[in-house]
Amino acid sequence: MNATAPQDNQAEAPLEVFRQAVEQSALAISITDAKARILYANPAFQRVTGYKRDEVLGHNESLLSYRVTPKIVYETMWSQLLRQRAWNGLLVNKRKDGSRYLADLTITPVVDEQGQTSHYLGMHRDVTEVHRLERQVQNQKTLIESVVDAAQVAIVVLDENERVVLDNQEYKKLIGDLGREPARTVLDALRGSGLDLDPVRRSFAPRELTFARQGGEARWFACGGTWIEELDSSADAFYEPRRRQYLLLTIQDITPLKEQQEAIRVNGLSALLAEQERIGSLREALAGAVFQLEGPFNMIAAAVRMLERRGESGTDSLVEGLVQALRAGNEALEALRRCIPASAAEAPQAVDINAVLRDVLRLATPRLLADGVVVEWQPAEELPPVRGRLTQLAALFKQVVDNALDAIHEVRGQRRELKVSSALFSDRIEVRVEDSGPGVPESLRLKAFQPFFTTKGANGRHIGMGLTVAQDVVNAHGGFIDIEAAGDGLGQTGCRVRVQFPLGE
Ligand code: FAD
Repeated sequence: MNATAPQDNQAEAPLEVFRQAVEQSALAISITDAKARILYANPAFQRVTGYKRDEVLGHNESLLSYRVTPKIVYETMWSQLLRQRAWNGLLVNKRKDGSRYLADLTITPVVDEQGQTSHYLGMHRDVTEVHRLERQVQNQKTLIESVVDAAQVAIVVLDENERVVLDNQEYKKLIGDLGREPARTVLDALRGSGLDLDPVRRSFAPRELTFARQGGEARWFACGGTWIEELDSSADAFYEPRRRQYLLLTIQDITPLKEQQEAIRVNGLSALLAEQERIGSLREALAGAVFQLEGPFNMIAAAVRMLERRGESGTDSLVEGLVQALRAGNEALEALRRCIPASAAEAPQAVDINAVLRDVLRLATPRLLADGVVVEWQPAEELPPVRGRLTQLAALFKQVVDNALDAIHEVRGQRRELKVSSALFSDRIEVRVEDSGPGVPESLRLKAFQPFFTTKGANGRHIGMGLTVAQDVVNAHGGFIDIEAAGDGLGQTGCRVRVQFPLGE
């Protein structure tokens, strides 16, 4: 007997261990009969539910039900259990004190030797806090998504492989303008602008980018980026936290703002040129008056010299009178010359000739439309900047274009065309302004640059200084200007003004 006793103890020991394990388990464990009447409940069950063991023994587990769990949940539970399958789910339970908690419950049928369910083993834990946190995270996510979605700026979050992990409605709207994945277009453009995105991992202030649209105006965007870090939430990074980096890209359409700025700039330029034109006209009028008066004064001076040479008696008082008149006249001429306003000083800068031509055409738009002129604008793809005075150059091309439009206006009943082009040669930049007007006869092409030469009639508006001033500007920039026949391009008539600027070192 003594020899068998230890064996019995060994056989019984695991059962006792099971019992102790169940008793000491942190999970609320209960065992019921086949009708869910509680036969056993462990201390954790008492702690979670608030019921003492003897208060629940013999009662159905429904004692814990708060009656808000949908009927379908119980029906599913029981249909599983009746097929002798374990069931797991979430139930809203009520403690003895009436407070509620969310129970994560697993029920396992215990099947006897006859294959009948004799008991159920129930194990549950209070997951109210976990649920609360999950909901909180979900709510915050929803809130963030709504805020991001409602933002008037396109927002996109990219992972380390530049895959989109979050975007908003405004971002989706960009697909039409920037292609299927706008972020890729923007990142390429940012890199193209010299931004080193990869190794720096530093946030960058919004940069202005422009994208040409097929058949439409260019669009402008301000694109900024913020790197955000997140702890890797995967299981294998639990003990070895890893950081993941995301790029939050904001893309704001600033096209309307740019267009507004552009309109203000062009209006400013227009006002400046108008003011220069006004001063120029004043200069021309005064210079013209001086020029016109110089003739008679020269004649008087010649008469005085002649009378003095002859030395005839009786003419002294006449000579004296003429000399006085000449002196007074020269003083008046000098006073008139002092009234000629000086041209405004302007610092030289790097000037994009294409941009100047574009501005001049923009300023001429109302006239082009009113006269039904078809414009052919052929800018060189790339032009090096010309060192020069911006406003003077703008005034130069405005003068040439205005002349072309005046000429086009003269000829009625034929196609009205203006062709403006720029080209880059090895030694120079050349701008051509061609019109379909009557042209300038070869004999007058040099004269056209002389002061006060005009073919436009003496209507007071044209006194023939436009091309003279234009030539002065070209000369001041070391360039060359001439007039030739428009040639094949715009018919037999027509005029082509060529302006050339030498390329710098
Ligand atoms: P009930 O009338 O009890 O049952 C609702 C539906 O379930 C009925 O329409 C019926 O079709 C089906 N059903 C109920 N009992 C049986 C049965 N014995 N055999 C076949 N079908 C049946 N419920 C909780 O709310 N909280 C708990 O923590 C909880 N723990 C449980 C632990 C165990 C081990 C078991 C076996 C059940 C547990 N239950 C628990 C379920 C509980 O017994 C009740 O079924 C439930 O609370 C619904 O109670 P009721 O009075 O609203 O409806």
